Formats: sequence, C-alpha cells, structure tokens
Amino acid sequence: MTIIRGERMIIDGKSISQKRKDELKLKIDQLKQEGKRLPCLAVILVGDHQASQTYVRNKERGCQYVGMESQVIRLSSSISEEELIQVIDNLNKDNHVDGILVQLPLPKHIHEEKILDVIDPMKDVDGFHPVNVAKLVLGQEGLTPCTPQGMMVLLEEINYDLSGKEVVVVGRSNIVGKPVSFLSLKKNATVTIAHSRTKNLKEVCQRADVLIAAIGKAKFFNKDYVKPGAIVLDVGINRDENNKLCGDVDFEDVKEVASCITPVPGGVGPMTIAMLLENTLQAYLKRKG
Ligand code: NAP
Repeated sequence: MTIIRGERMIIDGKSISQKRKDELKLKIDQLKQEGKRLPCLAVILVGDHQASQTYVRNKERGCQYVGMESQVIRLSSSISEEELIQVIDNLNKDNHVDGILVQLPLPKHIHEEKILDVIDPMKDVDGFHPVNVAKLVLGQEGLTPCTPQGMMVLLEEINYDLSGKEVVVVGRSNIVGKPVSFLSLKKNATVTIAHSRTKNLKEVCQRADVLIAAIGKAKFFNKDYVKPGAIVLDVGINRDENNKLCGDVDFEDVKEVASCITPVPGGVGPMTIAMLLENTLQAYLKRKG
C-alpha cells in the first residue's frame, strides 16, 4: 500500500485505488452470480474538451474493470440548456441507470449550477447536488464528492485517526476544499479552511497535523509550510516548468519533513475513479432498497 523510506511514508494511491476496485469487482461478480441487474453509470460529455474526453474514457474503463455497466452520452457543444436538462431528466427516470455524472466543465452558455441541480440526488454520484451537499454539512449519509472521499480512504488505509487532529485545508472549492473539510469534521478533526485571502498562510499551515493542498498552483507548498511529522495530501494537478505533471506541493522538499505524503501523480488522483465506482454501487443498493 505504501512505500516506507526510513521514517517517511509515501502513500501509494494507485495501489490503494486498485485494492478498492478489486473489492468492488468481487461485489459485482456476486451480483452477476445471483443473476441480478448490474449497477449502471451514465456519463454525459458535452463538447470535445480534450481533458474531459480522457477523464470520461477512464471512467468507462473503470466501469468495465469492475464489471459495472456504463453509458456515455456524447453531446454537441452547441446543445441548449433546455435540451441538456431533458437528457438528464430522461436518465433520472430510467430505472436501469443508477448513477449520473455530468463531466465538467460545461460550455460557457450552460449554467453548471442549474444543470447539477436537475440530477436526481439519489443518482448524483459526484455528490454535487445541493441535497447531498446539505447532507454532508449536516453529517448525514448521502453521496459524497469522490476526490474528498478518496482522501478519507487514504487516511483510513494508513490507519490514521483524525479525531482531535488539526486539519488545515488550503482551497475552498465546492468540489474539493469544502467537502474534504466537512468530511474531516465528521471524523472529529479540528478544521481550518484557508484560501487566497488567508493571512499568514505559512503559520496557519504549520499548525496542521494533516495539510491538504488544493489550490491548483504548481509546487506552491515547500517544507516551510509543513510541521515536521505532518501528513500531507496533495490534490493539485499541475504542470511544472518542464511540462511535467506535479502537485501543489514541492514533493522533493516536503518529503524530508512530512511523515506521510501523497505523490503526484499516483496519490490522491487515482482515488477519484475508485470512489466514483463505489458511489455508483452505493446509489444502486440504495435505489434497490
Ligand atoms: P479551484 O476551484 O480553482 O479553487 C482553488 C482554491 O485555492 C480557491 O479556494 C482559492 O482561493 C485557493 N487559492 C488559490 N491560490 C491560493 C493561494 N496562493 N493561497 C491560498 N489559497 C489559494 O480549484 P479546485 O477545483 O478545488 O482544484 C484544486 C486543484 O486540485 C487543481 O489543481 C485541480 O486540478 C486539482 N483537482 C484534482 C482532482 C483529482 O485528483 N482527482 C480533483 C479535483 C481537482 P479563493 O477561493 O480565495 O479564490
């Protein structure tokens, strides 16, 4: 699960994600053996955004790997908001579909918020619908956003108990920063959410037992931001000066002081698809009652 170098631990998100997918595969195999209908994920892709196409292909592959069904609905970037809403509405009513995901970003003429609000909360496997956001804030069970949930699983896998720990989340987006903060709070951590207006960011980060970097700035966090022995989870996906994939954390520098750290690539990133597939199974089981 992890590579241990001396006292330091590199959290291997790729193997942890693989392990979770293999566990899911066993559950889906069981459903097959029982002759049951299989969970089905529908992914809507609007336009021909290059990165989105790759993400959607990976989601399709993930479904194939665990044995779930998937549908990819490819729509022209010129589709109107009303037409897209109609497509979602049909999927909401389709009993065969358990999870619906609208790949973001959407073309500029379509309001993301309006579209995400139309998805049936029971099928909202991205966990972005206001009903699921409210459940997360209220500490109730619902579908939770995949990348934040993936970070919780990484901590579980290294047997780290968040109770009473100081978690500093840098970034307050609706898809990463805010949900991971509420998930940490649910685990009884003391949570600070920092952002671009936070004063004395270094000092704030140095308080963290767990530092979550989610700002989208290549190698922004060096070891001056990290308390010795802290756990560092790096959500960022950026390109460095050599066009090489890197996180928000200067990995080589920070790994000298952190007790555990996720690399980029191969840390938080691979967890997202595993969590999406888990959410689809959860939605399927809940809908089946
Ligand atoms: P986002 O919506 O752009 O939000 C960035 C956040 O970082 C904002 O809250 C912003 O503060 C804050 N911020 C920016 N510069 C800062 C600075 N210098 N100091 C402190 N805070 C700063 O980004 P996102 O969607 O959350 O994504 C963050 C990163 O995670 C990106 O690199 C993205 O590609 C990556 N990501 C990875 C995955 C995955 O691994 N599967 C999933 C999602 C995102 P303000 O609110 O004040 O502007």
